Amino acid sequence: MLCRFTPRNDDMRTLIQQTVSKIGEEVTLEGWVDTKRDHGKLTFIDLRDKSGKVQCVGFQKMGELTTESVMRITGFVKQRPERMINPNIPTGTVEVDVQDYTILNKASELPLQIGTDGHEISEEVRLRYRYIDLRRERMQKIIRTRSTFFHAMREALVEKDFVDIETPILAKSTMEGARDFLVPSRFQPGKFYALPQSPQQYKQLLMSAGFEKYFQFARCFRDEDLRADRGFEFTQLDLEMSFITREDVMTTVEDVVKRSVKAVGGKLQNENFPVIDYRDAMTKYGADKFDMRSEEEKEKGVLAFAWVINFPFFKKVDKKDAAEVRDGKSGWTFTHNPFSAPIPEHEEWLLKGEHIEEITTTQYDLVCNGLEVGGGSIRAHRPELLEATYRVMGYTPDQTQASVGHMLEAFGFGTPPHGGIALGVDRLVAILTGESSIKETIAFPMTSTGRTSVMDAPSEVASSQLRELGLSVMKE
Ligand code: ASP
Repeated sequence: MLCRFTPRNDDMRTLIQQTVSKIGEEVTLEGWVDTKRDHGKLTFIDLRDKSGKVQCVGFQKMGELTTESVMRITGFVKQRPERMINPNIPTGTVEVDVQDYTILNKASELPLQIGTDGHEISEEVRLRYRYIDLRRERMQKIIRTRSTFFHAMREALVEKDFVDIETPILAKSTMEGARDFLVPSRFQPGKFYALPQSPQQYKQLLMSAGFEKYFQFARCFRDEDLRADRGFEFTQLDLEMSFITREDVMTTVEDVVKRSVKAVGGKLQNENFPVIDYRDAMTKYGADKFDMRSEEEKEKGVLAFAWVINFPFFKKVDKKDAAEVRDGKSGWTFTHNPFSAPIPEHEEWLLKGEHIEEITTTQYDLVCNGLEVGGGSIRAHRPELLEATYRVMGYTPDQTQASVGHMLEAFGFGTPPHGGIALGVDRLVAILTGESSIKETIAFPMTSTGRTSVMDAPSEVASSQLRELGLSVMKE
């Protein structure tokens, strides 16, 4: 049989965790030097790979070997004598007698240590060397938990007949209430794409396109003032469904969240998430995000989810907020999402522009342990409802056309009733792993000053690049 390439023999490398079942056998291990201790003639190495650590002992001097170097060790797995067993590690019953070793990559002196949880090291250093920082046990656990959690969500959705569809990153301003990131166009100098603040409009268009159930792990970009616990981009589990009610979306999401939380060992306070009216939440907790757990439950790391519904559709514009001023020309702007439908009883008010303060939206927010972890709504799928929302915000018909004319057009070509939600999955992973910052859940997050991990962005570009784009930079 002809083989175009020679795959590496799986048996050639033993994972460290497997050593416990290979007593007496010769194995080849590959990994990082976690620690190295010289004991006279003997050298002790704790070798680490993705599956764990194991102690390796050699008569060689290994003087050139530094911690965090990558090496290959061939040796015999030996049962440790009773009194030498280390009960603290899964491979504590064995050690590997080094016969031969190769240094695959020698590590220089490390700019940061990885033996601790890392909280004591400055963010700047951790993110500058994030690929080293991620080697620490805590970070390995978080990033792997994130993967398992996402996988469980994806699996649950696919089982429920959802279709995973990507939407453009180079897009048009999406009216999500924040400032856009703009990307200049080279082909059309002076024109700009906007990075999506969410796939809101594209997912609605996918309902018009007949997919009925859509989801995507979507990257969203919002140029908001940075806070210690978040950067400019984040990930949402974004979904949309056709021919459904508010309760259908909530039930579906509840089921997906419960399954995936359990998949990573999370403990739920309630199998059925309580549903609380916005006004009741404000009266009872003074906020629309609240923590329903007892002190004991907090200590045990229990997760308490709840839904909040019946929010006001509109609010008065905050004059200090540039995006609100832009969107709410009349002095009114949306509280959550301009594409939402009001509750059916308030459709007439919206259409006539009456009782604006009292109009209730179909919005539902998902709250967990005092934090907002998701939100969505049933959408206005008839053009006159979306037009009415823009009228309330003070848009002229021409301005509405310029902003969402393509949506109004789609709503005239057979768009089913639909609704959806987006879950802040970085935040959910942070809650699940007991972290207070979502940056701890992202492999390469941004620093608090808006710089990228490891690589130096934002950075200046060549003047020739600017010229191609028809741009020049104003110097203060
Ligand atoms: N697009 C909304 C957001 O990002 C969520 C939704 O209504 O589906 O907040």
